[in-house]
Amino acid sequence: MWRVADARLRTVDEHLAQVLDGIGVVDPIEQPLLDAQGLLLAESVVSPVPLPGFDNSSMDGYAVRAVDTKYASLEDPVTLPVVGDIAAGATSRGGMGPGLAMRIMTGAPIPTGADSVIPLEDTDRGVARVAIRRPVRPSECIRRAGEDLAQGQPALGSGAALGPQQIALLAAIGRDRVLVRPRPRVVVISTGSELVEVGQRPGFGEVSDANSYLIAAAAKDAGADAWRYGIVRDDHSALLDVLESQLSRADLLITTGGVSMGAFDVVKQALTELGTVEFTKVAMQPGKPQGFGHLGNGVPIFCLPGNPVSALVSFEVFVRPAIRKLLGKRNLQRSTVQAAALERIESPAGTRQFRRGVLHREATGGYSVSLVGGPGSHLIASMASSNCLVVIDEEVTEVVAGARCTVIPLLLSNR
Ligand code: AMP
Ligand code: MG
Repeated sequence: MWRVADARLRTVDEHLAQVLDGIGVVDPIEQPLLDAQGLLLAESVVSPVPLPGFDNSSMDGYAVRAVDTKYASLEDPVTLPVVGDIAAGATSRGGMGPGLAMRIMTGAPIPTGADSVIPLEDTDRGVARVAIRRPVRPSECIRRAGEDLAQGQPALGSGAALGPQQIALLAAIGRDRVLVRPRPRVVVISTGSELVEVGQRPGFGEVSDANSYLIAAAAKDAGADAWRYGIVRDDHSALLDVLESQLSRADLLITTGGVSMGAFDVVKQALTELGTVEFTKVAMQPGKPQGFGHLGNGVPIFCLPGNPVSALVSFEVFVRPAIRKLLGKRNLQRSTVQAAALERIESPAGTRQFRRGVLHREATGGYSVSLVGGPGSHLIASMASSNCLVVIDEEVTEVVAGARCTVIPLLLSNR
C-alpha cells in the first residue's frame, strides 16, 4: 500500500509561492551592449535619430528623375548622361539637374534632383552615358529617412528581452551601453565533511564535490553569474563564517547538504538558530527537505539537500524560477510537454515525483518518454544520461504504459 500523504508536508506549489514571495529583482546596472545579451532592458529607449538616417538607395543603380525614363523600353532605351558616382559613405548629398543620371551604390544618399533609382540590371551599366531599358516609378528603390523608426519614437520599452535583433537596433540608434537587469551573482557552497575537491583523489569514505559544479552550472544556465565557493565541513561556526564572508558578493546563496534529520546536518542546525531561514518538508520526491530564507541584509539563501539528484531537482523546481525572477523575467517556469510513458511508472500518493527520463520525438510528431535509473537520488550517472524530468503529480499513483505524463525537457539555454 502507498503511504498516505503526511499532512505536515508543504506542497511543491505552496513552497514555490513562499520562495518567490521572498525574491525581489536585482537593481539595474549599465552594461556595454554585448554584455546585455539575454538580459532585460531596465529603461525605455527613445530613438535620438531616424532610421534610416537619410534617404538612400536600396540597389546598385542610377539615380534619375522618374519622368525622364517614362518612354524607356527594352527595344528603345532612354539614354542619359552620367554626371557622377555616389558611393555608400558619401558624406555630402550631391545633386543633379533634370535629364541626367548619377551612378549610385546601395546605401548611398539619394542626390537632390533625383526621385528614384533604376537598378543596374535594367541598364547597360554605362559609365559616361547610361541606357535605361524600362520606366522607373517615382520613389522606386529609395529607402526613406525614418521609415523604419522616426526620430523621437520609442525604440524599445523597459522590460524588453535583449536578443540579437534588439541589440542590433540599439547599435543602429547609437547606444553602446544600456541599463539592464543584471545577472544575479550566485554563490554556491557544498557542505559535508566527506567531500573532497574535484581532482583530489577521494580516500575511503570520501566523495568528490559534484554539487557545487552541478548547481553552479545550473545557475549559469538559468542566467546567473555563478561562483563556486567550494566545500565547507560539517562544522557550525565554519559554516556561519563562510556564509558571512560571502554575503557581500552574493545576490543569492545556495548551499547543498546538511538539511536532513542527521546529527551532523549542520546547515539546518546552524541556520535554524539564526531564525531567518526556515526548514520545511515538501511533498516531493526527491527533494523533501528544503531550506529557504534570508541572511544579512536580506540576501536570499536556498539550502538544498545533498544528494546530487535531489539538489538538481530542487534547483529546477525552486531555484531556477527564483533566478529568473531576480533577472526580472515574467515567465519563471520552464515549458513542459506531454509525452507517452514507454513504461509503467509508480508514484507515492500525496507526493509530486520527479523522475529522470529520456524524451524521444516520435516520427508522428508527438513525444514519448522512458525512465533512466531508479528513483534513487544518488544516481549521478543515470542523471547524466537523462534529458528531462518526468513529473508525476501528487494525486497520481500509477502511470500505465502508453498513458500521457508531463515532462520538463532540460534544454540548455545556450547563453
Ligand atoms: P546530506 O544531504 O548532507 O545528508 O547528503 C546526502 C548525500 O549526498 C550523502 O550521501 C552525501 O555524501 C551526498 N552529497 C552531499 N553533498 C555532496 C556533494 N557536494 N557532492 C556529491 N555528493 C554529495
Ligand atoms: Mg551531509
